Amino acid sequence: MPNFRFSQRSEGNLVGVNPALVKVVRRALELSTVDFSVIEGKRTMERQKQLVAAGASKTMASRHITGHAVDLFPVGGDWNDYKCWLPVLDAMHQAGKELGVPLRFGITWTGNPRDVPAKFLDAPHVEMPA
Ligand SMILES: [Zn+2]
Repeated sequence: MPNFRFSQRSEGNLVGVNPALVKVVRRALELSTVDFSVIEGKRTMERQKQLVAAGASKTMASRHITGHAVDLFPVGGDWNDYKCWLPVLDAMHQAGKELGVPLRFGITWTGNPRDVPAKFLDAPHVEMPA
């Protein structure tokens, strides 16, 4: 069983994230077969405005603003291949079930990362639905 630890940067990106979601992320790191980073967590309104203006996000109602979403990146992953995320998302899915925390995955925009990939998928994104 691999024993991964979050970098300082990942830990910093968990600050301000909903504690239940943080627990899921930490449990997922224990379960995951591949190491991963937390590349974003809680987002300011200002940053969200910039992302929407840049076309990188479609909504000002992002769950990141309230700390109910994280973006994860598999170490050594390829941005052009969403399948790299599946081991990480499987671990998140399992951790969410174990801890009783409902999740929605940006890869499918459903509660199951193994459903049919969404047309506009956001593989790194995992949120607690509103
Ligand atoms: Zn996101």
